[in-house]
Amino acid sequence: MKPAPKTFHVKSFGCQMNVYDGERMAELMTADGMTAAVDAASADLVVLNTCHIREKATEKVYSDIGRIRKDAGKLDRAPMIAVAGCVAQAEGAEIVARAKVDVVVGPQAYHNLPGLVAKAAAGEAALDTDMPLASKFGALPSRRRVGPSAFLTVAEGCDKFCTYCVVPYTRGAEISRPFAAIVDEARALVDAGAREITLLGQNVNAYVDENRGLHDLIRAIDRIPGVARIRYTTSHPNDMADGLIEAHRDVETLMPYLHLPVQSGSTRILRAMNRSHGRDDYLRLLDRVRAVRPDIALSGDFIVGFPGETDADFADTMSLVDAVGYAQAFSFKYSPRPGTPAATMEGEVPAEVMDARLQALQAALGRDQKAFNVASVGRTCAVLVERRGKLPGQWLGKSPWLQSVHLLGDHAIGDLVTVELGDATLSSLAGRAIVAKAA
Ligand code: SAM
Ligand code: SF4
Repeated sequence: MKPAPKTFHVKSFGCQMNVYDGERMAELMTADGMTAAVDAASADLVVLNTCHIREKATEKVYSDIGRIRKDAGKLDRAPMIAVAGCVAQAEGAEIVARAKVDVVVGPQAYHNLPGLVAKAAAGEAALDTDMPLASKFGALPSRRRVGPSAFLTVAEGCDKFCTYCVVPYTRGAEISRPFAAIVDEARALVDAGAREITLLGQNVNAYVDENRGLHDLIRAIDRIPGVARIRYTTSHPNDMADGLIEAHRDVETLMPYLHLPVQSGSTRILRAMNRSHGRDDYLRLLDRVRAVRPDIALSGDFIVGFPGETDADFADTMSLVDAVGYAQAFSFKYSPRPGTPAATMEGEVPAEVMDARLQALQAALGRDQKAFNVASVGRTCAVLVERRGKLPGQWLGKSPWLQSVHLLGDHAIGDLVTVELGDATLSSLAGRAIVAKAA
């Protein structure tokens, strides 16, 4: 038995959907009467909201549990530990056996967290990895305080079953939230201080509710007074509907940025990955998006070293990168995940080959990202101020193309400042305010 916790700390790993879930868990615990602790070591309850996507991410959870116990031990404390998120879903009771944690709760059951914490405090087993049909969202408290840029999950799960990926197993089947509930939450976010809303889903553009798709949702949120910017992530090439492409042409608040993972430039590997799009389909799709929004910043995800990937396949990935010119992209070494079809495929790529390919790919992506930033110098655009910078008087914000921009002057968090972009590096630009406050 442990005393019922009065303070909590949530630490989220992995994707933006986990960040969103972590915020909602914090809101739940606040509504339940707990207060947020300044850090994990001083909290009565630590919630680790975990990621299972790659082996490294999973192992990190166990090392983190050890570190939290050690740091708290130095303060003579033994916090209650709850493991939430995709590791909780995938490993369930094994986590309790391996790390002796107090609570285990899956991503579709976290609305039950306060009840599970109470059970653990009473010395009872507290594990819930159910995937109930009824949505957890209805059981969550309404949004109260958020920053200028807020996440909003509109769809969860995935039915695509890419052969390397655990998401369909840990997050469950693809399910879209009701249209009206999302628009209401967007309104609540604006009332709570948001100016930018990023719509989230593992396959956000597969969103559908009674024949209304993501583009309908974007147009509805665009009409909410106070919404200055809309973004969405992550999209799948197969679900890039005409209506969504047209929204990039017509909806002014929809930012010119598209994260569209491709994973590989080789159609042969894409087939083995069960991506159901080829290299040329992907390139044609980007041409269509660029035709309606020529300034769009493109982003993607890549996996190197998928089983059977040859030098020629990898050369196809490098040539695709050259053809697209990404403004930003994420790249990973293939990590076999237990239970996925790729984990038992032949043709393992040696570690040193994988390392060399990742290095070459990241060099090319870095080159293109820097080139995109350099090409932005001299552009005038609005920057949404998100936080203070490290230097006195410095502020950090985002351009429409999701570049980090630092600027000096008399600004405040949530301001949209019209700037001229200058001084580009790989990861940021300097902005010179030319009109103090816009929009
Ligand atoms: N649904 C999105 C899509 O299909 O593009 C992305 C979801 S996943 C959380 C984010 C990225 O992790 C994927 O795009 C992929 O590049 C990477 N990823 C997923 N499984 C992986 C694995 N087994 N090994 C390495 N990277 C992986
Ligand atoms: Fe995973 Fe593929 Fe679904 Fe993306 S589309 S979440 S990579 S299975």
